[in-house]
Amino acid sequence: MTEPHAFVFAPPAIESLPVVGAEARFPVRRIYCVGRNYLAHIREMKEAEDERDPPFFFQKPRDSLVEDGATVPYPADTDDYQFEVELMVAIGAAGRDLSVVEAEGAIFGYGVCLDMTRRDRQRECGGKRLPWERGKAFDQSAPCGPVFPKALGGNPAKGAITLTVNGEERQRGDLAQLIWSVPEIVANLSASYALAPGDIIMTGTPAGVGPVKPGDVIVGAVDGFGTLTLTIGGREA
Ligand code: MN
Repeated sequence: MTEPHAFVFAPPAIESLPVVGAEARFPVRRIYCVGRNYLAHIREMKEAEDERDPPFFFQKPRDSLVEDGATVPYPADTDDYQFEVELMVAIGAAGRDLSVVEAEGAIFGYGVCLDMTRRDRQRECGGKRLPWERGKAFDQSAPCGPVFPKALGGNPAKGAITLTVNGEERQRGDLAQLIWSVPEIVANLSASYALAPGDIIMTGTPAGVGPVKPGDVIVGAVDGFGTLTLTIGGREA
């Protein structure tokens, strides 16, 4: 037996999410996000020239993952920290150039997630035609709830998606309003990237996005796929 590899410093932890009804956890490989996928949100952002544009994707770092129930600091580098509640899709099989039917088969399960955003930085980057990383891909920007295996029977094509702040409703939409259905999103993504087990996809937010402040408690919910609670702590030093 060979010696295990030595590292010059401790390697990063494996990021993972709990799986509903299972002891084993879902190990996360990549976090993809859809840029816009509900008409009402596109209109509130006034950013698309053609509302039927194909979906576009960006990524958050794997280690920006945050679990249900966490408290995160109000992040540095923003005065406009905003929530976006989204349906999370968890991929369970490898795939490239998938058809819509094949894409459906590659899905392991679903959940609730928050595409937390430094809106001021996102708008600046967009205005200058720069990448969105400063606005979207920062530390602790990817809170994700538990993964519900699709065998549990939830329906990602229809059902309420909502968000409250301190108990007051701020976002409400329905998965039936997705411009691109979940399998279409997965198929489209697989045309540009080789998907692998452990990938998760944030599928876009309905209307009503807005800012939070230290002390706020956010609860996202998607019918059939549970809830996700995030508390905003004090400002990051
Ligand atoms: Mn989003």
